[in-house]
Amino acid sequence: MVKEAAIPPAGQSFSGKDAKPGTPSGNLVVKCPKCREILLVREWEKNLKVCSRCNFHFKLSAYERIDLLVDPGSFVETDQDMVSVDPLKFVSRTKDDVQVYAKKLDDERQKVGLNEAVVSGYATVETLPLALAVMDFRFIGGSMGSVVGEKITRAIELGIEKSMAVLICSASGGARMQEGLYSLMQMAKAVTSEFVLQHGMIDPIVHRRDLRQTLARLLRLYTPAAVHQTEPLITTAVKVELDSAD
Ligand SMILES: [Zn+2]
Repeated sequence: MVKEAAIPPAGQSFSGKDAKPGTPSGNLVVKCPKCREILLVREWEKNLKVCSRCNFHFKLSAYERIDLLVDPGSFVETDQDMVSVDPLKFVSRTKDDVQVYAKKLDDERQKVGLNEAVVSGYATVETLPLALAVMDFRFIGGSMGSVVGEKITRAIELGIEKSMAVLICSASGGARMQEGLYSLMQMAKAVTSEFVLQHGMIDPIVHRRDLRQTLARLLRLYTPAAVHQTEPLITTAVKVELDSAD
C-alpha cells in the first residue's frame, strides 16, 4: 500500500481533465481546511493541490489522479459506458425526503461528469505498462456498487491477461447500500488480500509529487526484466490511498 505523505511540495505543472474537487469554479483563492492558509488557485494547482504551508493534500478527481500518475497521453480508458442498473428499485425514505436510487444515479452523473465512481483502463508509468482502476469520491462517496466492482475486477483480469501490474487508487466510503447484496458481492470479486499477504505488502508513505517515480520504481521491481516478455513472473496490486495526508 502506498500512501501520500507530507513533505515539502515542488512546483510542477498539472492538468486535470475533470472538474476540480473542492474548488468553487471561478474562485481565485482556496482556503486550506487544515491550517486555514489562503492559497492562490494558480499556485495551488501547480503544487498538485497540496497546501504550500502545511502540506495538506486536497482531494483529486479520478482524472486528475490519472494525469498525476501516468505518462502523458498514455491512458486508455475502458468500460467507460458501463452504468449501474437499479435491480432492487431502491427507494429510501426519511422524515423529510424520498430518494429514488435511479434518479440519484442520474443526478450524480450530471453533477460529477462520470458514469460511475471508478475510472479504469491501462497506461504506462515511465514507459512501464500497467492496468489501473481509480476511484472518485465525488460519485456517491466512492461507494462500491455492481459496476465499480465489475470495473475493478476487469482491470485486475486485464493485468493478469497482459502480464501487467495493476494499480488501484482507492477512495471509497464502502459498499453502496442502494444495491444491497449486489454491492456486497463485489467485495469477494475485488479483494485479492490473501495473495497480497502471501507476497508481501508494500507500504511507503509518499508525497504526491513523487508518486509517479515511486510507482515506476515498484513496477521495475515487480515487472519481468523485459517488459515485453510474454511469460509473467508476478502480477501485483498496489493500492494508493487518496485524499489528505494527515
Ligand atoms: Zn495548509
